[in-house]
Amino acid sequence: MTDRTPLMAGNWKMNCNHVEAAGLVQKLDWTLKDGHYDASKSECALIVPFTDIRTVQTLVEGDKIPMAYGAQDVSLYASGAYTGEISADMLAKLKCAYVVVGHSERRDYHGETDEIINAKAKVVLAAGMIPIVCCGEKLDIRKAGEQVPFVLAQVDICLAGLTAEQVASLVIAYEPVWAIGTGEVATPEDAQEVCGAIRERVAATFGAEAADKVRIQYGGSVKANNIVDIMAKPDVDGALVGGASLNADEFAKIVMFYAV
Ligand code: PEP
Repeated sequence: MTDRTPLMAGNWKMNCNHVEAAGLVQKLDWTLKDGHYDASKSECALIVPFTDIRTVQTLVEGDKIPMAYGAQDVSLYASGAYTGEISADMLAKLKCAYVVVGHSERRDYHGETDEIINAKAKVVLAAGMIPIVCCGEKLDIRKAGEQVPFVLAQVDICLAGLTAEQVASLVIAYEPVWAIGTGEVATPEDAQEVCGAIRERVAATFGAEAADKVRIQYGGSVKANNIVDIMAKPDVDGALVGGASLNADEFAKIVMFYAV
């Protein structure tokens, strides 16, 4: 079995201007150094607002901080008359490693469908970056016990037309919508049930090697006090963390979950 390095990605959402971003990156860096953070045991990534990316890049490169960074969304289009949009090439030029596509907030507030998310994942891959493809059910689906078929149907469309190599390289974030920003965390067993089913579906569609290599994150009210149990599950390869990633001490504990 491939040794999948867990990915702990902090999604800052629409928080932190570029001055605040610099402070948070530096505090996180000191805190991780203090804790003797070992990047071979868990990868740390910051998914920041567009206006923070250049600042984060300057700090990460200048101070040789062992952190990746990326964006929360991308345009479907390469360039031109798309006011307000940011292209994949613009993000790649800023050395973004990751781009989140299909976060539930984009689905809810901007009408993004699985088909759009599939197209965005392709745009991100074509620009040499790694998409973090989000999926997850709402509470009514969970209450009906339909979470596995619902999420697998999302995954089928979001990954349609990709090669096995592309799927092996990307990240899928399973984020039950009812657990995002609510304090309502899925149990480790809930997370494993769906993450395991996603890996099986990837194996069936793209082959055993892609399934073995693809990283599948859990997201939804992850905190320092619940990450260890979630990470103990075999098909959970990290976390997409919202609120808790805005606090350097809390996020550092999540990134260094392996040390507990
Ligand atoms: C998220 O933004 O993807 C998320 C999971 O948020 P939170 O950790 O705040 O629930």
